[in-house]
Amino acid sequence: MYFRDNALHFSRGAQTLDEVMELLRNVSDVISANFPTIPVIPSLGNHDFVPKDEARTNYSEPYGRIADIWKTWIGDDRQMELFKKGGYFSRRVGESGKLLVLSVNTILYYIHNHINLGLTDPAGQFTWMEKQLEMARREGLKVIVTGHVMPGLRIPGLEHLFHPDFSRRYADIMTDFSDVIVASHYGHEHAEVFKLLRRENSPLDAAVPVFSAMSIAPMARALKPGQPKYPLQPSVRLVEFDRATAHHLNYRQFYTNLTQSNLNNYTNWVELYNFRDTYGVPDMSVASLRDIFRRMVSAQSLTINNNTINNNNSTSTCCSSNDAGHTLSPASPVLATGQVVNPLSSFCRHILGPMGPAECPLVDQAEIWCGGQISDLSGARQCVQFYLLAHSGQATTPSGKQN
Ligand SMILES: [Zn+2]
Repeated sequence: MYFRDNALHFSRGAQTLDEVMELLRNVSDVISANFPTIPVIPSLGNHDFVPKDEARTNYSEPYGRIADIWKTWIGDDRQMELFKKGGYFSRRVGESGKLLVLSVNTILYYIHNHINLGLTDPAGQFTWMEKQLEMARREGLKVIVTGHVMPGLRIPGLEHLFHPDFSRRYADIMTDFSDVIVASHYGHEHAEVFKLLRRENSPLDAAVPVFSAMSIAPMARALKPGQPKYPLQPSVRLVEFDRATAHHLNYRQFYTNLTQSNLNNYTNWVELYNFRDTYGVPDMSVASLRDIFRRMVSAQSLTINNNTINNNNSTSTCCSSNDAGHTLSPASPVLATGQVVNPLSSFCRHILGPMGPAECPLVDQAEIWCGGQISDLSGARQCVQFYLLAHSGQATTPSGKQN
């Protein structure tokens, strides 16, 4: 899964479409050369468009140009036609042929893309998703959904990632087919995030796991606008799943120390942690994510990676129903004691529905900021302190910050 956004994150108009396409072709060629036999499922990013974010409907640029570059990844004429129409496609993978991957163009719904406002189904993608998922259910397939921008809310700005109408429709479709969708994977955030996407009043297990991985790009991020930015080490993720059932068993998170890599002229990828051991769950299923959230919210403490987070300052931000509506405060005592802070534990956070009751039921999510990707411990400590400052009060208003 290749989540794109290789173009420089300049302001609007700083790059031409030709330049963006050249970058796309270069990186795609490198991936093809290194993984000639592995199916590659790319998803369009918001920086694949010029002006950025403006994914349009129905055979607009740059869909046709990118389709020609990704022809071997996209597949047959039918899929090529879909991609040229709206930047989305599906592909069956795996030996059993029972696994279907939907590459969804979520930039059509992205909060900073105002082109499609007023449309009910940009590029017909919602209808296509429903038909694909109905077919998958009929034929006994399992589905993985991939896209660039994930649904739900973004931490720390707590802003919507999709326009609300699109967000609801997307969540409705995904949760209507939670029996066939095993998981969904996204990029864009340069942060590690997991969420459960679900619908109001639906059974708690009728949800779809949402995972966001870190980025290769070491783009610096601030916890809030105006605060110092912290660079992130390049990161890749290896998801382990059952090839027959697509059951997600675990992921292993790798990173490389960029400074060392440059000094040694050699990129050494190191495993940072793996999901199952870190969170003490058997797999990446809905039940496991619920278990993690439940421990975050209801327990007095949660042990992650041998560090304990004291849930001593939970703040109700929105809902009171179910097991939702709490913000887990990272444990300041960990900092005060001066003990070695594992950044994983310090940035683990559970939040739900801070935008208002209407959005409350849609998403549970936890976000791991920095995730140990900061190269030195003092940097990690500073990052923790800024995190605590940023979240010491009530939920903030939407910041408008964007990638
Ligand atoms: Zn992006």
